[in-house]
Order: sequence, then structure tokens, then C-alpha cells
Amino acid sequence: MYHHIKKLMYTVRVDTPDPRFGNMLLEQFGGANGELAAAMQYSIQGLNCEDPARKDLLMDIGTEELSHLEVVGNLARLHLKPMKNSRNAGEADPLIAIAGGGGVGLMNSMGDPWTADYLKITGELDVDLRSNIAAEARAKIVYERLIKFTEDKGTIDALQFLMTREITHMKAFMRALDSMGKDPLQIGQIPPTPELVNQYFNDSTGDGDFGEHDMRGPWNNGDGWEFVDAPAFREMKSGASGARRPVESEREPLSGPGMRRTG
Ligand code: MN
Ligand code: MN
Repeated sequence: MYHHIKKLMYTVRVDTPDPRFGNMLLEQFGGANGELAAAMQYSIQGLNCEDPARKDLLMDIGTEELSHLEVVGNLARLHLKPMKNSRNAGEADPLIAIAGGGGVGLMNSMGDPWTADYLKITGELDVDLRSNIAAEARAKIVYERLIKFTEDKGTIDALQFLMTREITHMKAFMRALDSMGKDPLQIGQIPPTPELVNQYFNDSTGDGDFGEHDMRGPWNNGDGWEFVDAPAFREMKSGASGARRPVESEREPLSGPGMRRTG
């Protein structure tokens, strides 16, 4: 059950209202990476979760996000308020001024309505936790940009609080995922096709006149990786050396339904 206490999780203060900035803040109210999306994503994941320990985590953070929604909503409201009666302020966002009376609505900074399409809920706990880690990283970076776009001291204080909590959540989700003890590449139950899974398809050109200098790193080199050139690149690379030369991998492609590298 939910309760409401008429006290903010973090007291907000705005020294100089800035309607344009209030509009930007709506991104964290009703936007894709905003607080309502976070609250709903974690709470609904929690509702579906059968692991009692991680269900508790999801419900704790989901509920905290509702408190963040309230903080960022109050902050946005303080910035948007002048739009209600000032034509000048209202020009910052006619939708909020005329239809909303200078109040917050569940929309993003472009006026698009909030949608449940923002939510990532798969019913697979480790997959959901990964989505949550990414969601927290996105929320963090949006708050950081908002902080850079205002000089209002009270606003910066509140945003710094909200931004910090996203890193806290990110850490909790990361630890929760680690503590499940799963190989990070083990998703679901059906194993991937053994050889295919280690083939790195070099499908875009590298540097050099013939695109022959590919970028290599741990994402495509060592650790069992097999570097497989796209068929078109084999021609290009032989052009670069002036003669047909063997490329790094010329193994016969796997064949079968849905397999690539057959032509
Ligand atoms: Mn939050
Ligand atoms: Mn969060």
C-alpha cells in the first residue's frame, strides 16, 4: 500500500524562476528517463519479481523514485508558475501557459505525453536489472546537463541531490545483479550457437585508402574472438596490397537457416 506524507524528500527552493528551464525540467518529470518512468519500471518489475530479496530492492527504489518525482515536480512548478499570468513568461511554452496554467503535466520537455512505452520490463530479473543500471546512467546524465543549464543555487542543490541518488541506485542494481552469481553472458536458458557466438563480423571499413586498417580491441581481439571480414572487404583488402592476400579469417561460413556469410 502507498502512503503520502506532505513533506518533500529534499526541500526545494528556487531563487529566480526561469520558465524555459522549468520546461527542460519536465524531461525528468514525464520524459523517457524521468522519475515517473523509473518509479513505474522498478515498481512493476518488483510486482513481477519472485526473488524476495531483490523484490524488496525494486520496491524500495521504485518508491524512492516516486519521491523524486515529487521533488522534480515541485521544482519545475516553481519555475513554470509565472507562466500562468504573464504573457511574456508564457511564451516559453504556450502549451503549459494556456492549457496547463503554468503547472506541471506528465509530458516531456517537448510536450510529448508520458507513455508506458518508456518502461523496460521483461519478467527476467537479471535482464531487468541491466535495464535499470542503464536507466540510472541515463537519468544521471540528464540531471548533469540540467545542472549545467542553470545558475539558480536552490535549483542546483535539488538537482545535485537527485543526480547523486541515481548513482546510489545504479550501485545497488549493479550489486544485486553481481550477487545473482550469473555469468554476465548467460541470458535466459537456451545457450547460444557455439562457434557463431565468438565470430566478430567486421562489417564497416577501418582507416586507410581501402579501409584496410581495422580497429582492434578486446571487443574483437583475443579471448576466443574470431575476426571475420565481410565478403566485400576481402576484395578491398586484396586491392590495398595490390594482390590477393589471405585475410585474417577465411574459414568457411556456417550455413543454415538465418546464417550470414553465405554469398
Ligand atoms: Mn530518481
Ligand atoms: Mn534512480
